[in-house]
Formats: sequence, C-alpha cells, structure tokens
Amino acid sequence: MARSSPTLENLVTRVAARLMPADVASHRDAFYQVLQLLYEYFGVEGCYLRYHDHDLAAAVLVAEWPPQAHGAEPDTPGVLHFRDADPAIAESEYSKEPRVIREPAESITSIPLLWGEVTTGTLGLVAPGDRVWTDDELDSLRLIAALLAQVQARIRAEGDLRYAAYHDSLTGLASRRALLEHLDARLGRGNPGPVGVLFLDLDRLKALNDFLGHRAADTYLCRIGERLMQVNRPVDLVSRLGGDEFVVVLAGPATVADAVERAEEIQRVVGESVSLGGQLVGRGVSVGIALGEPGEISPVELIGRADQAMMVVKVQGGNSVGVFTDDMTQEGERRTLIELNLRTSIDDDHLVLEYQPEVDLRSGAILGVEALVRWNHPVLGTLQPAEFIDVAESTNLAGELGTWVISTACARLAAWKERIPGLDLTMGINVSPVQLVAAGFDESVASVLRRYGLRGAEVCLEITENVVVGDLRRTRATLSRLERLGVRIAIDDFGTGYSSLGHLKSLPVDTLKIDKGFVQNLHRSEGDRVIVNSIAGLANSFGLDLVAEGIEVEGAVPYLLELGCRRGQGFLLGRPKPPGEIEESVARGYVDLPWTTGRGRVFGVSRRTS
Ligand code: C2E
Ligand code: CA
Ligand code: CA
Repeated sequence: MARSSPTLENLVTRVAARLMPADVASHRDAFYQVLQLLYEYFGVEGCYLRYHDHDLAAAVLVAEWPPQAHGAEPDTPGVLHFRDADPAIAESEYSKEPRVIREPAESITSIPLLWGEVTTGTLGLVAPGDRVWTDDELDSLRLIAALLAQVQARIRAEGDLRYAAYHDSLTGLASRRALLEHLDARLGRGNPGPVGVLFLDLDRLKALNDFLGHRAADTYLCRIGERLMQVNRPVDLVSRLGGDEFVVVLAGPATVADAVERAEEIQRVVGESVSLGGQLVGRGVSVGIALGEPGEISPVELIGRADQAMMVVKVQGGNSVGVFTDDMTQEGERRTLIELNLRTSIDDDHLVLEYQPEVDLRSGAILGVEALVRWNHPVLGTLQPAEFIDVAESTNLAGELGTWVISTACARLAAWKERIPGLDLTMGINVSPVQLVAAGFDESVASVLRRYGLRGAEVCLEITENVVVGDLRRTRATLSRLERLGVRIAIDDFGTGYSSLGHLKSLPVDTLKIDKGFVQNLHRSEGDRVIVNSIAGLANSFGLDLVAEGIEVEGAVPYLLELGCRRGQGFLLGRPKPPGEIEESVARGYVDLPWTTGRGRVFGVSRRTS
C-alpha cells in the first residue's frame, strides 16, 4: 500500500478501533459509527454499506449515514435486486475493484467488500459533483472495506453458531438451550403467569427406526415438528429435546383448561398418519402438562413436572394427556416407602403371582401362562410391577425378587401338574436384566427345576431386548447354558427395545413376544400392521415363534393369523388372575374364544372334562 497521510492513517485506526470489538449485538452500531467517520472525514453527501446476498441476487442495505427512512425512497430501496438495478450497480455484484460512477450532479464510489474470492458487499460513498480520489484515499478505503468484510464474516459465523446452539439440527425447532433460556426469562419474578409447559413423548418411535429405517424415522420427526409448529401459535415456543421428546411453552398466562385443550389438539394432529415411503404411519403421543408461577419455580423443575405427568400417562398405556398434580410430588416419598418395605415383603409373603393365559388363537387351547408379580403393600394397597420393579432393580433387590418369582412360579406349575394329569403347559417367567447377568443365574434356575421335578422346556424365561444390548458376551453365555437345560427364551416387548437384529441372531432365543402397543390398535392402524408384518418376517427368517400380547379386541386376530402369528395373550382372552381363579381354565385346557362362542365351542382341545 502507498504511504498514506497521517490523517488518513488516523482515520483507518479509528475505524479499526470501532470494528475490532464488534459482535452480533453491537456490529450495527459500529457500522453506523464507521460510516459517520467516513462521511465527516471525506465530506461526502452520504455513505452506505450493503451486503450482497448471492442467493437473492440482491444488495441488502445494512447501514447508511446520514440515516434515511427507506421504503419511502424508491430510489434506494433496502433490498436492491441486481437484475433490476441500473447497469452501474448491477456490475458491482461481483466487482473486485473500486469504481466511480459519474452522474451529472454527483458521483458514486463503490468499494467491494472481499472475502477470499467472493464479493460479499459494497461500501458506497456518494459525493457531490465529480469526486476524484487520491491513491492514498482509495487504499485507505480498500483497507476499511477489508475490515468491514472481516466483521461481516465473523458475525455470520457467530450467527451460524448461535443458530446451531438455539435450534435442533433435525427439525429446526428450538433447542434445549433455547427452551431453558426462554423459560428462565418467562419465570422471572414479576412476570405474568402461570407459565404452561407441555411435555410430549411419541409412543413407540423406536420401532419406526428399527423397521422402517432411520431415514424414515427422521422424516417422521420432521413432519411432527412441522405439525407442532402449525398447531401452536408462532408466539409459543416449540422445542425438541432430542429423541422423540418435544416441549411446548405456551405464550402468555395459561390455565389448566387452555393447556389441556392445546394438548388434545396436539394429540389429534400428531396422531394423524404420516406417509413414509408409501406407508401410512401414525403414532400416539403422551402429553404431560405443568403450570408454574414466575418466581416460584425454576425452568428445570417445571419441565421436570411436565415430564413426570407425561410418565404417568405413559405408564397407563400412553396416547393421552395428564396434568401434574401435587400427588406427584409425593411420588418421591412413595418411592422411599416402597424401597423401605420391599426387602421385608419378599420374606413376609406380601408378594403374590397372578397368571395370564397364552392361547392358541385358532382353538383357544391354553399353551402356557405368564406369571406376573403383584405386591400387597401393607400401607399402599396392591401395587403393580411398574411401581416397584425398577425400585427393586435400583436397590439390588432384583435378584431376591427374581429368585422368589422363579421358585414360586415353578412350585405352582408342579402343584398343578400333580392335580391335573397330563397337563402340558409352559410357565412364562419375566426375568430382569439385572438377574440375567448375575453370576450363577443359570445354576439357580437349574436347582429350582430339580427341586420341583420340572423339565427345562416347561419354563420360558422372558427377557427384554434391552438386556441383550447390555453385556452381550455374558448374556450369550448364560443363555446358552439355559438352552442346554432345555429352558425356552422369549424376547419380551419386542419392537420397543434397542437390540440389533444381528445380536438376536447370535442368541439362543425361541420366541418373540410382540409388544402390546403394536397389537392393541392393529385393526385400525396401518403403521402398526407394517411393523407387526416386519416382526413376523423377522421371526420367520430366524425360525422363531411369535406371540402377540395385548389382544384387547377381536379385530386384531384376523391380521395376526394372516401374518402367521397363532399365539396370543390379552385381556380379551383372559386377564391375569390369582392361581385359585385361573386353575379351572388351566384344568380345562382352553379358553372360550369370543368369536367362536355362540357358534359352537371348539371341541377336541380339552384335555380333561370335569
Ligand atoms: P409384560 O411382561 O409385558 O407383561 C404383560 C403386561 O401386560 C402385564 O402387566 C399384563 O397385565 C398386561 N396385559 C396383558 N394383556 C393385556 C391387554 O390385553 N391389554 C393391556 N393393556 N395390558 C395387558 P403387568 O402385570 O402390570 O406387568 C407389567 C410388566 O412388569 C410386565 O410386562 C413385566 O415386564 C414386568 N413384570 C411383571 N412381573 C414380573 C416379574 O415377576 N419379574 C420381573 N422382572 N418383571 C415382571
Ligand atoms: Ca412378559
Ligand atoms: Ca410384554
């Protein structure tokens, strides 16, 4: 660069001092100050800074001095499309060198902002008459344009980063961070309240991943994101926490009634089928609602409450709406009570097993029963396994509980066999992941079988897919030893877990139990039929038996039979019952199939007529 005069150098120094600290928040002010410096130093009529948007093929006004009201002045609109502009301006689109356009009354000098090879903008100076620039002046202007281009690039990069931090990369919805900052602002003391939060969790999304592929599941999530944006007004915040969890923060003060109404609307639109590669897929959504007063609750607590309300909905079968209640705060205390009592309950006979029949869907023959544990809690009443199994697992009691279940179920089968000659029944026993990897598990099963004189094949251990992912090597070794005892192995809740199909192949598994979530709506959900269809295909190619759980309506049965699934369990065929109540059906050997009764009983399947 040519040696510039001290005052020009001073100008550049002052411009640099303004631009160096500029960030996303302050850069516009800095630009105005720089233009003002140029305006005063060069004594021009006006200066402006435009960015070139090459997608729009337009120069977008960023700052000008003196400030003018744009839009009111058609001569210099805020967005100047190069193709409509006069040729002199149009040429600046890609220009690399300063140019002076001379008009009768004024001259316009354009200095390109260059970033690498790209012309990213224009610094313009409008001077009266014919402005002639010295080389020093032009060099200084080039330098200033370079500084402006640098700030522009930096701001853009920061903007991209900021965008990435505040947006979910898949759906473009607000990110967890954006959600927390938004709630933090809303929940500040003195703000209008209450603030309403909806926590959404899509039911059984995992199966879409497994059976239709990641791409399909991603597309599905994006569609759901779009629908959520449509149902919720633009002022509501819609965020995705990751996976299949979304959070909506309602704008303005909310009432429970508003929130429930919105949640139901969300449930309706999310439930509508999405077309994925020609398949119509619909999922339910579980929504938890919580309201919080500004100044009284933190964002994390409020989201946690909505999450807790959602979990309650999920445990009760999903696809519904629940509101957080103060009882749920007591949930923690309840859990402590459960923890404290569980150990003694195992010893004190407070645990009981109920048995649910597994049935041949064509004949009604009872092929087996599944043992399901209940806890008659001295204070809390009858507890379902969902309320205490995970407590057992997190307090190292799973082993003791499991041992009790296995020996009690086997004792029951032995007692029935003694009373019912010729009884041929498989006892299904749920095994928790913790039990399966515990040392000596297979030996303890072997010893129970010996104690009650049972063959291995009379017992079917039900494990969840997740166990398979945990410690594959150990699981495989344990399962192989159980296989040698003749014990059958079923994968429970199939379709909801995380096992890879490759793993499945390497394990000695006999049976897949299709999760009830896919069966309950089989008669009216094409998406569920697609999934059950692929599970059936999988079972077929690996030579596995199939059992459908959760048969609640007759309508599901024809589909299951058509897919080659002949075994089923569900409320329609028989609820879990205490041993005394189910013994009669066990002795008889079959249940009445609702769709054959009245048209004549299916004969020939009864083992014993009593
Ligand atoms: P699971 O092994 O999938 O058991 C089937 C569950 O579905 C049972 O719930 C049963 O009552 C319910 N069910 C059966 N038919 C239908 C139907 O048609 N519709 C609906 N909506 N539900 C149906 P339950 O007894 O509450 O057990 C829940 C879970 O707790 C079991 O799911 C199992 O994973 C676990 N569990 C039960 N007993 C034991 C046990 O002794 N040990 C371990 N580790 N887990 C157990
Ligand atoms: Ca089971
Ligand atoms: Ca199951």
